[in-house]
Amino acid sequence: MLRDSFGRVATDLRVSLTDKCNLRCTYCMPPEGLDWLPSTQLLTADEIVRLVAIGVERLGITEVRYTGGEPLLRRELVEIVARTAALRPRPHISVTTNGIGLARLAKPLAEAGLDRVNVSLDTLDRDTFKRLAHRDRFDDVIAGLAAAQDAGLLPVKVNTVLMRGVNDHEAVPLLRFCLDQGYELRFIEQMPLDAQHGWSRADMVTADEILGLLTGSFDLTPDDLEERGSAPAERFLVDGGPARVGVIGSVTRPFCGACDRVRLTADGQVRNCLFANEESDLRAALRAGASDAELSERWIAAVAGKRAGHGIDDPSFLQPSRPMSAIGG
Ligand code: SAM
Ligand code: SF4
Repeated sequence: MLRDSFGRVATDLRVSLTDKCNLRCTYCMPPEGLDWLPSTQLLTADEIVRLVAIGVERLGITEVRYTGGEPLLRRELVEIVARTAALRPRPHISVTTNGIGLARLAKPLAEAGLDRVNVSLDTLDRDTFKRLAHRDRFDDVIAGLAAAQDAGLLPVKVNTVLMRGVNDHEAVPLLRFCLDQGYELRFIEQMPLDAQHGWSRADMVTADEILGLLTGSFDLTPDDLEERGSAPAERFLVDGGPARVGVIGSVTRPFCGACDRVRLTADGQVRNCLFANEESDLRAALRAGASDAELSERWIAAVAGKRAGHGIDDPSFLQPSRPMSAIGG
């Protein structure tokens, strides 16, 4: 098992398939993009599947989430999902995507064994989308969401980051849209992970504020709050349910004490946290011919050193040098 020194066990593996993206969300990367990882440094599909198999078959991983960067840009995604679904015990498999290309890929992904998707959508307004993501791709995202639902990738979850003065007035319309369409909306507090280091606490729309924005229009009652467990989202029944909305207060309501996640970057580094400053290189060992047992040992040792929390509220907090898109959000 992947147990850390605080007794937490990592069972949820987030794998970044690429650091590249076809959007430029302001809270994530600058309009000009970033220096992408050289392709020789990216794990190949075989390498990804081998490491995921070690995680699932030897180390107790039960959930695999493919992310990025934009995972739909990875040409072998359907193959990677199919090979993941063939592992035993079969893990739960999901993808976090900006939705571009999902209209075409939702069905093949579902057929390959994908269980679910999270699609990021921050606005219902085309112009705001263009301003926020620096690309005119709003229609592609809406079409991708619908295709995911048609393909049975349920429940379709929507991730929204609210920004003060940009889209915070859309909290209520976004929730109405998701309720109408049958999507489950989760608001995520903006975290200090953008490559431009533009995050400021004052600009962050907090979980409390988000709930305040919603309660004028909806009756929200805490759902399974007692059993939040390792789930980062606090969930609320909307108008008595069964529809729900989630709020992920990563900064103001951290869930580090119950964290069950471990991350694998697109270049094969194990990271214990989005905010970690340490990484453990599995790619070098893998390419030097390490056996599955040796790779497991390295992975176990990496997780053993997981820190207690992200410490964003600590005066000594340092933003990690890698942006979210390179770590895998
Ligand atoms: N490109 C895919 C997408 O946008 O869904 C997957 C990668 S993205 C890094 C994963 C999630 O992280 C998205 O829902 C995005 O909105 C969120 N995200 C990115 N930067 C963030 C930040 N600074 N704070 C909070 N969430 C962020
Ligand atoms: Fe791309 Fe996702 Fe980052 Fe937006 S949040 S720039 S879609 S990786």
